[in-house]
Order: sequence, then C-alpha cells, then structure tokens
Amino acid sequence: MSLSLDATQLDRYSRHVILDDVGPEGQKRLLDGRVLVVGAGGLGAPAIQYLAAAGVGTIGIVDDDVVERSNLQRQVIHGDGDVGRTKVDSAADFVADLNPDVDVEKHETRLDASNARELIADHDVVVDCSDNFATRYVVNDAARIEEVPVSHGAIYKFEGQVTTLSPDGPCYRCLFPEPPEPGTVPDCASTGVLGVLPGTVGCLQATEAVKLLIGVGDPLVGRMLFYDAMDLSFETVPYARNPDCPVCGDDGIEALDGIDYAAGCRVDVA
Ligand SMILES: [Zn+2]
Repeated sequence: MSLSLDATQLDRYSRHVILDDVGPEGQKRLLDGRVLVVGAGGLGAPAIQYLAAAGVGTIGIVDDDVVERSNLQRQVIHGDGDVGRTKVDSAADFVADLNPDVDVEKHETRLDASNARELIADHDVVVDCSDNFATRYVVNDAARIEEVPVSHGAIYKFEGQVTTLSPDGPCYRCLFPEPPEPGTVPDCASTGVLGVLPGTVGCLQATEAVKLLIGVGDPLVGRMLFYDAMDLSFETVPYARNPDCPVCGDDGIEALDGIDYAAGCRVDVA
C-alpha cells in the first residue's frame, strides 16, 4: 500500500483530493485498488479510460479480440492505427499514455468457466463489459463465489442497463435465472448499436467501481437502471434476492463445475 501521494500525484489528482468525500485517503484507495475489466470493447473502452484517469492502481483487462475498423465508431480507446492489434495491447498502450500510475495486467484470453474464478479472485471490483450472455452468467456466478462485487452493464441498439452485484445483494440470476435460448437475441453486428450509447453505460459502470473502491455513496445494488437514449430517459427498478436463485439462493452454488454455460448462451447481444 502506498503511504502517501507524491507531488505529481497531488497535482494529477488535485480535483479528487479537494473533494470532501474523496480526499487523499480516497485517492490512495483508488491507487491501491485492483479492478478487473472483462472486455475492452464498447463498454470497456470508456470504463478503462475513466478508471485509468482516476488513478485505479491496477486494471486487469480480459479480452481475446483484435481491433477492427468497425469497432472505432464506439470503442474510443482504440485508434485507426490499432486496427489488427490485440485489444489488450491497444488498451494497455492507451492507459500507459494517459496515466503512468496505472499497472495494466493483460489477459489475452476469453473469460469462461475454466478460468473465471482465477481471473476474478484478488480483485476489489469486476466491471463486466462483456458482450454475450455466456460470459455475463459466468462472471455473475464466479464473482459470487469469490465474493467480489460486479458492476454490470449491457447495451442493445439505443438502450442500456446497469446494475451492481454485491456479494451480499441479489445477483444477476435473481433477475434472469437462465440465459435466453440460443438464437433468440441477435448480436450487434447484425442489429447495430448507437456508437455513443456504450459511452454512457460504460461511464456509469466506472462510476460504480470508483464509488465502491473509495467506499462512498449508495451503490446500484438491488436496483436495475434502464437507459433509453431515444427519449433520454433513465428508470430505476428495484429487485430483490430470490431465495430460489440457483446461485445466491439458499441452495446456492459453490463451484462452477456442472453448469453448461454454452448451452443456453451461444448468443451475442452487444
Ligand atoms: Zn441470485
């Protein structure tokens, strides 16, 4: 743990340091924080950007994709010159240029049931910026077992949703016990997505992660925020823990073994 902020850090984070609810102690918590961002795409780009700017000391980035030109309309940490590079390399270079205080841990892999617990363990917060149901359910289940909070976000065309899954609050399966059937939800390559939409949603996810690290505010636990860009409306709907939830219910899971994530999940949405 860093003992104090140096002169450069006092300058860089001065607008945090003078905030009553952050201060030098809150900034140190950010610098000592470890956040895992799952996906360096539309949601991950703004999340990584603001987490790095805020001085989150360690950002793990999980992504096995390469930058394509069609990503650049919304994935703002990647540039034209990054087309063809891996997203973890492009993201790490972006962060290094923005803030040398931040260590990026690159995981050039796809998070799945075989590696999720290992990837998620040892982090303070997971920011789920994945674009498919299989990963979303694995993140929910693994984070619950490892007792790591998750800032969840998802987008579809002009709409977004955000919620925070606390280890002692309701989980994603309390709302949606099972993934949709394969083929019932189209992916964004076929439906399209408003480029600025993940910017809004990813920033909300980063906001939750920063609040959790500092320990301030009221996290979006047990509440799902729905955002509609078409009429610029936000609606928050409360939800409760389901005692029959297959993951966090009274007979919840203690391992990911035996759950067939691929069966109901082979569908992309974002
Ligand atoms: Zn649950």
